[in-house]
Amino acid sequence: MYYDPVEAMDRVALEQLQAERLRETIDIARRSPFYAERLKGFDPDEIRTPADVVKLPFTTKDDLRSQYPHGLLARPLDDFVRLHASSGTTGTPVAIFYTQKDLDTWADLMARSMYCCGCRRSDVLQNTSGYGLFTGGLGIHYGSERLGMLTIPAGAGNTRRQIKMILDHQVTVLHIIPSFALYFAQKVREAGYAPEDMPWRIALIGAEPHTEQARAKIEELMHIKAYNSYGLSEMNGPGVAFECVHQQGMHLWEDAYIAEIINPETGEHVAEGEIGELVMTTLRREGMPIIRYRTRDLTRFIPGQCECGRTHRRIDRITGRADDMMILKGVNIYPMQIEQCLMAMPEVGQNYLIELIREGVSDQMRVKVEIKDEFFVEDMRALQGLQKRIAKNLCSEILVTPRVELCQSESIPKADGKAVRVVDLRGKE
Ligand code: ADP
Ligand code: ZN
Repeated sequence: MYYDPVEAMDRVALEQLQAERLRETIDIARRSPFYAERLKGFDPDEIRTPADVVKLPFTTKDDLRSQYPHGLLARPLDDFVRLHASSGTTGTPVAIFYTQKDLDTWADLMARSMYCCGCRRSDVLQNTSGYGLFTGGLGIHYGSERLGMLTIPAGAGNTRRQIKMILDHQVTVLHIIPSFALYFAQKVREAGYAPEDMPWRIALIGAEPHTEQARAKIEELMHIKAYNSYGLSEMNGPGVAFECVHQQGMHLWEDAYIAEIINPETGEHVAEGEIGELVMTTLRREGMPIIRYRTRDLTRFIPGQCECGRTHRRIDRITGRADDMMILKGVNIYPMQIEQCLMAMPEVGQNYLIELIREGVSDQMRVKVEIKDEFFVEDMRALQGLQKRIAKNLCSEILVTPRVELCQSESIPKADGKAVRVVDLRGKE
């Protein structure tokens, strides 16, 4: 039923294991210059339960940057065999180093994650992530091989070749980021294939925020089951939290991480089930342990048990990064609120873009929306009606009325990697 019995471990035993691994982690971390200083005088015996993690200080992305490249390494450089870097979505990248044992642990977590949403060794996986510093390439790759799947390192782009390989090798599992999945679905249709005729059954989607509505659209357009996959380079990469077949939030592997959700302003834990910033501590990393890392990702713990029987808590889909928040006319707005609204409308196509502009002295939001070809009619009145409806729906969600611009499909430029949803043009137009 499970890839690893630890997935259904009794909570009391699981928490004991966490406390034990946290004490070990502190010991190891202190061998690095950064934590030697940061944790000076801390007595690991103060850790009796995983909740005692709050006695430790946070680590921020700025800490990682200031320690670049080697300040967090708890072993001599010779012991490391791999380096990855975050994709730099928000500023200077940070480098993460892995020993062979760290890579093995990561591959196991990844294999467990894929098993949990129904992948089996008889499956054939095609990985459409770029194979570079981004952990979605090699991270998924080694996990897929560990599970025993035939693994095709297709890499990013070149949709025609992707489609050919999927058909030639009867690919059943695709690893694909959500914004590319929406685009790819269209390309498959244009190439003359009905999605029902494709051999695939599972899409592993993650690496960027997306809404339930976007998932629904991917599932419908591709005729596939799409499972949410969460991870970040600082915590290895993908394989941190993953949806099981029930698709009710992502199990976060608590034998490998301690997760907390805090109020980003106060640093205190939020109440059970409330949204806040995810903070994570590695429990199984020997080369570069990281303690209480402020991910900036916003989510919540989903209360209650999952039907699958796994005991590891679930996190809800990431609603965005704390840094993604826009403030317009005094209202806080997240891009995912806009996506949710747009993707729920049948006329809306695959892509959209939020532009922040200045009109006179006030800030405005312009939302460019691709409309499906069949709705992009010559009738001006119909289009204006649609435009108004989109603006109205958005206003009821975000409380300000944005300018809405209707676009033809594929007219909004698509990023090579993770989608760029917001562009700030204030003072630039
Ligand atoms: P970067 O921060 O440069 O994008 P990474 O490649 O390490 O670096 O990406 C990790 C980040 O990607 C996470 O912190 C999160 O913001 C986002 N992310 C990853 N998986 C998901 C997911 N399933 N849903 C939403 N966001 C995700
Ligand atoms: Zn489950």
